[in-house]
Amino acid sequence: MDYSMLVMLLKDLVILPFQDIKIELKDEISKKIIKVSSKKYNNRVLIVSPDTDSINPSIKDLPNVGVVAVIKSKLELSNGNLRLTLRGEKRVKILNYKAFNDDIISAYVCDIILPKFEVKGENVIKTKLKEILNAYIESSPNISNSILKVVDENDDLGFLSDAITTFLPFKVKQKLNYMQEVNPEKRALSLIKDIKLEIRYNELEEKIDNNVEIRLTKEQEEYYLKEKIKELESNLGKDAFNDDKITNYLNKLNSLDIDKKIYNKLKENIDHLKNLTTNSPEHGVLENYLDWTLNLPWNTLSKENLNVKSVLTKLNKSHYGLDEIKRRIEDYINIKNINPNINSPIICLVGPPGIGKTTITESIAQALNREYYKISVGGLNDSTELVGSRRTYLGSLPGKIIQAIKKCNTKNPVILIDEVDKMVRDYKGDPASTLLDILDSTQNKHFIDNYIEEPFDLSQIMFVLTANDTKDIPYALYDRLEIIELSSYDIFEKVDIAKKYILPKIYDEFDMKRKINIKDETIMYIINNYTKEAGVRELERVLKKLITKVITSSKSLSVSEIEVVKYLKEGEKLENKEITESGVVNILAYTNIGGEVTRIECAIFNGDEKVILTGQLGDVLKESVMVAISYIREKNYVSNTLFYNHTVHIHFLESAIKKDGPSCGVAIVSVILSKLLDIPISNEISFTGEISLKGDLIKVGGIKEKLISAYNYGIKKVYIPKDNEKDLKNMPKTVLDNLEIKLIKNYDTIFNDLFNKEKK
Ligand code: ADP
Repeated sequence: MDYSMLVMLLKDLVILPFQDIKIELKDEISKKIIKVSSKKYNNRVLIVSPDTDSINPSIKDLPNVGVVAVIKSKLELSNGNLRLTLRGEKRVKILNYKAFNDDIISAYVCDIILPKFEVKGENVIKTKLKEILNAYIESSPNISNSILKVVDENDDLGFLSDAITTFLPFKVKQKLNYMQEVNPEKRALSLIKDIKLEIRYNELEEKIDNNVEIRLTKEQEEYYLKEKIKELESNLGKDAFNDDKITNYLNKLNSLDIDKKIYNKLKENIDHLKNLTTNSPEHGVLENYLDWTLNLPWNTLSKENLNVKSVLTKLNKSHYGLDEIKRRIEDYINIKNINPNINSPIICLVGPPGIGKTTITESIAQALNREYYKISVGGLNDSTELVGSRRTYLGSLPGKIIQAIKKCNTKNPVILIDEVDKMVRDYKGDPASTLLDILDSTQNKHFIDNYIEEPFDLSQIMFVLTANDTKDIPYALYDRLEIIELSSYDIFEKVDIAKKYILPKIYDEFDMKRKINIKDETIMYIINNYTKEAGVRELERVLKKLITKVITSSKSLSVSEIEVVKYLKEGEKLENKEITESGVVNILAYTNIGGEVTRIECAIFNGDEKVILTGQLGDVLKESVMVAISYIREKNYVSNTLFYNHTVHIHFLESAIKKDGPSCGVAIVSVILSKLLDIPISNEISFTGEISLKGDLIKVGGIKEKLISAYNYGIKKVYIPKDNEKDLKNMPKTVLDNLEIKLIKNYDTIFNDLFNKEKK
């Protein structure tokens, strides 16, 4: 039967069945494991010894055998430590490990069922084991023979092998192997071998002692004295150095304006350091800890610039548009001027890459006169990266938050937490919930990093988060954020950004006195032919390259299409090629780089009555195709016989990219009808919308992005669901002015528009 238990990792400590061990626990997590195990797991805990020298073992270093131990007694000592007696009960097989919570691991285990052993063979092994044990005790004068009684009174091979292993002075590593070997016969045979070796060592030692005792003693004495003097000398020098350090630490501590409790704790640590010799490992660990802790900006703040006008001027100077975030900062300053104690907002900027999320945050920090630091949490699956690991682990460090604070050296920086929609939740814990504790102003006043151990106030930090997609932000987190959605730029906005922001930035960087003469149309040409993005990052890179080429290779500082073609490699031209054949349509897609126009094609030919789909489609998209076909057949738009003995093949272009989602339904119906009726659909027309079996158009997402890209691509007319009408409200005017947007309730309308007039 499987059951779960909490795991206690004990490195360098072996416990075997029937063996009692006494341990003293200092750290809170181990104490918690014992507390929960006493209450909920029938006083039992699973002891596991990591199979690695690493101080911070990962799950893959953990073995698949552990020992269940009963908590026989526990006593809380006056210094807060917990003293325990554990008794090993049995080995169990570990099926898997998982996170019980942020700090504790639990494991699914099952009992081990051993095969039946042959009685005769087992008896031979037992006799041999007892014989060899006797011989060993005789050969070692310092070893008690109490084990012989235990061995005489018991006959179970499993018990015997464990009892003897406990008794013998083997190394920990060696004992670990015995802990993890579940087969008693194998354990007994290894024991016979290992005891034989011990006997050999004993004999050898005796021989050496007898032969070389007198000669070695004199030399040894000299050597020993020399070493002792060396050690004393070095300690004298080092201690003087250590005294200096301790004085420095004390001075630093006294200069800090901190809570009395924290002061006392740090003082205790400094006092403890005094008593350690400089070459002990603990000395290094403690020194590192004091260097971190005493150098945190416990009370250092930047003086915030709360002048609305100056802040907005700076933001407008660095970034085009992004009005909503600029307004939010304006509100924040106005409120803070009235009530200096308000908390900073937790803003989350959501939108495709390259639209200014990171750099506007950096500008906000600069404008407010706060320090700035960026932490990336994309792919992060381990909460300890945020909150640090306990300093008992060698090489442990504070988490990213405290590291950021230390780098900024103030306690009120702007911290950007990038890619919160790409954190991963797995057995190591749930970083989103840890992040929530960090951001939550009711809790973060007393944030405790596992390494620092003392509470540090994070409440004055302004956190700005970024994500590409709201739907991937962990829900608990999403609930607490002020989401500000930023969308892609249309081509006119991009030209504006290039002229007013990117080019001046490049001139500045290159220290150019004379400006480049470049027309708007040339910038548009570059955007259309050399970039494919929602933001302007690529555009910035291309312009920089172009200008470098111009200033290094030509006298004239004028740039036209000729220079562009000459200096830049032919990029992928985003050409909206004319459509002359039936069975091809432009569709509007929404990807994480923004909106995009791509194509689908349909072929119908004699063959089995089936549907072929290509272009890496997900399940939802495959279902859209089925719905489209059933709708066309039921509706009798074309003779149903056209489907008999025919194969329908639908291909989505850009086949290297995976696609999914319901929003192509309308386009799929259109491409199939175009093919069946043999009526081409112009390349200036496009579609987006989910379709029901009855032909109703259902609302879809990403309308703004899709229409901007349709416009940029040269599309003139788009069909979208009527239910998406309200998305048109915050659409750029140029897009609305130049696109004919048809709001559709049912596909009938599209059919009449595109096909019916031609239908005989
Ligand atoms: P994101 O964080 O959204 O991926 P970045 O902040 O890194 O984007 O911006 C990429 C580049 O584009 C930066 O060099 C930035 O200066 C420029 N940029 C983006 N948006 C704007 C804007 N609205 N005004 C001026 N420059 C911008």
